[in-house]
Amino acid sequence: MDVSHLIDDLNDAQRQAVTLDDGHCLVLAGAGSGKTRVLVHRIAWLIQVEHVSPMAVLAVTFTNKAANEMRGRVEELLQIPSSGLWIGTFHGICHRILRLHSAEANLNPTFQILDSDDQYRLVRRTIREMQLDEGEFPPRVVQGFINARKDDGVRPDHIEHNGNPLTMQMVEIYRTYQGACERSGLVDFAELMLRTVELLRDNPNRLRHYQDRFAHVMIDEFQDTNTLQYALVKLLAGGAKTRVFVVGDDDQSIYGWRGARVENVQHFVEDFKPEIVRLEQNYRSTRTILEAANRVIDHNDDRMGKNLWTQGEQGEPVRIFSAYNEDEEAEFVVGRIQDWLESGRNPSGVGVLYRSNAQSRLFEQALLRADIPYRVYGGLRFFERAEVRDALGYLRLVHNPMDDAAFERVVNVPARGIGERTVAGLRETARAEDLSLWDATRRQLAAGNLTGRARNALGAFVELIESLRAEAGETDLGGMMQKIIRRTDLIQHYLAREPADRAEARQENLDELVRAAESFDQSMEDEQAGLSMTASFLTQAALEAGEHQGEKWQDCVQLMTLHSAKGLEFPLVFLAGMEEGLFPHQKSVEEPGRLSEERRLAYVGMTRAMELLYLSYAESRRLHGQTMFGRPSRFVGELPPELIEDIRPQLNVSQARAPRDSGGGLPALGSRVRHAKFGAGTVLTVEGQGENARIQINFDDAGQKWLVAGYATLEPE
Ligand code: ATP
Ligand code: MG
Repeated sequence: MDVSHLIDDLNDAQRQAVTLDDGHCLVLAGAGSGKTRVLVHRIAWLIQVEHVSPMAVLAVTFTNKAANEMRGRVEELLQIPSSGLWIGTFHGICHRILRLHSAEANLNPTFQILDSDDQYRLVRRTIREMQLDEGEFPPRVVQGFINARKDDGVRPDHIEHNGNPLTMQMVEIYRTYQGACERSGLVDFAELMLRTVELLRDNPNRLRHYQDRFAHVMIDEFQDTNTLQYALVKLLAGGAKTRVFVVGDDDQSIYGWRGARVENVQHFVEDFKPEIVRLEQNYRSTRTILEAANRVIDHNDDRMGKNLWTQGEQGEPVRIFSAYNEDEEAEFVVGRIQDWLESGRNPSGVGVLYRSNAQSRLFEQALLRADIPYRVYGGLRFFERAEVRDALGYLRLVHNPMDDAAFERVVNVPARGIGERTVAGLRETARAEDLSLWDATRRQLAAGNLTGRARNALGAFVELIESLRAEAGETDLGGMMQKIIRRTDLIQHYLAREPADRAEARQENLDELVRAAESFDQSMEDEQAGLSMTASFLTQAALEAGEHQGEKWQDCVQLMTLHSAKGLEFPLVFLAGMEEGLFPHQKSVEEPGRLSEERRLAYVGMTRAMELLYLSYAESRRLHGQTMFGRPSRFVGELPPELIEDIRPQLNVSQARAPRDSGGGLPALGSRVRHAKFGAGTVLTVEGQGENARIQINFDDAGQKWLVAGYATLEPE
């Protein structure tokens, strides 16, 4: 058998890792050195050359997108479908294990995943029901507390509170919240991991089954595993046969804020005594980009240290653009994308990266205006939009009436006269008698102690759900979705409450949801696990939120946060919003540990670029309703001058707007002025009013400059 295609395109160190025939392995290497490629080739090598059964391989990646790509690449190498091979995210894998063994995990077989928005609501409701003050126990904070405990594998009984009343109360909320989840058959993201670890820890037979099955456990982006994930790896590897193969880069650890422990890399070395392979050649970026990224990350202490070199070309300098404001920044970026497309390149080769989701909107608008197709990863993704979640809430309730989170979401959407008081009464009954809200409703209806209006409204609601449930058996998923949307009058509900264009957008999303349900294909694993189509679909909606969006836009510009760009690469990359306070994020500036994590994020961002890299910042930006005048990010300052090129705003991208009030002494467009230092020049642009107005002047000798009216003393010439 010819297996040369599995190793020919690898360098020596890569080949060593791919073909390693004994023991555990850690590939520790910088960005773009082929870690993911090595992992993929190794899977193919094991199956094709060492005749390992695909069933014996478990591969874990960080996102669903990465998992799909990995499966595709393995199949391409093997030239056959890789069925039986488990590839997924930690959450996806744990979900699958829990589905297969729900009884042993003490879970309702129809359990549903509680995504973070629903989790927030449930936490808030728990706090209210316990009659605690939301000011003292902000739901967001409590949610973070619960998740952090779960990520560390800690149940309420094991939290050390040292008699601290605040901690004790938090623990009580955690306990009550967990009780509500159990009652409704709901599992939050952190619980997926924790339950699985507990299941395997407490069921030796089950554990042995998986230890015997998975001869090879492989993990990408290992630097971002958390405590529980590492515990799971250790459990699975407890069998003598299991070999663990992990790849990672300590310089790309960017999820510390969410419980990831970069120390796991060190622990892995101590616990597993792996062969350590270092890859030092970067195949992704030009020499300039690589050098620039290396210089930035050099400012961090405490690195494991790596060399990274490339045979690639020197390439173009890293371009820095200083925009007057955020609109101009977006216009600039889109202008460069237009140039790129005009030179015959593809939109999908472009990545626009930013620190926080809210920054996407301006780029979206500018891209829309320019009629360039784009796709946003993260942010409000399709399955997270309110209308989609409302409709799915009904589907969940039809599927499992005990789902309290779904019940709460839709009981009065559209408004049907079921007031907060009535719902509070239901919660009370539910809690007192340990019932779901659904059963509490039926109990109250039967007891006949509701007022006429509430009784009618609740009665109609129950009837609606029951009639849908009765039809669920004969209706396929797409048909069911359509029935739900029609019978619940959701569209009329939005039309009545919102401006037409908003409501229409919602309607389009609901149409899209029906299409998604119609074309939904159940995976073989789900089918084998005996999951109904509906359960699979709901799971996918919760786990893979948004990954359907934009499928019709295969070839489009990619917009995403720096965090979601991990592992990806694009010929052309923009890092936007490079301002102190935005990136590095304000919260991180005061804490050294957080600051170095931000710097690693900058390193991740820069190393996504293959050919061209732009960094941009806005001198003023409206954020949270305020105009801020930020300084350029320190990361920009850390770039060596010989590798960068500064681009100033150009006339064709900045919009000249005459001031509404020029009585305040502002010069008029086109007038000639004199500045003490720069000499004589012509006014090109005036923006804003009064002291804060910004004036762009083309000085005869000094070139174009932006000045602030309040500081620059200008004399008419
Ligand atoms: P990151 O740290 O960003 O996740 P990585 O180390 O996983 O990066 P890969 O994504 O596997 O790196 O590889 C980076 C690029 O280099 C890919 O386009 C890959 O195909 C290419 N590459 C890796 N190794 C080689 C090789 N030996 N020959 C040619 N191209 C290679
Ligand atoms: Mg990778």
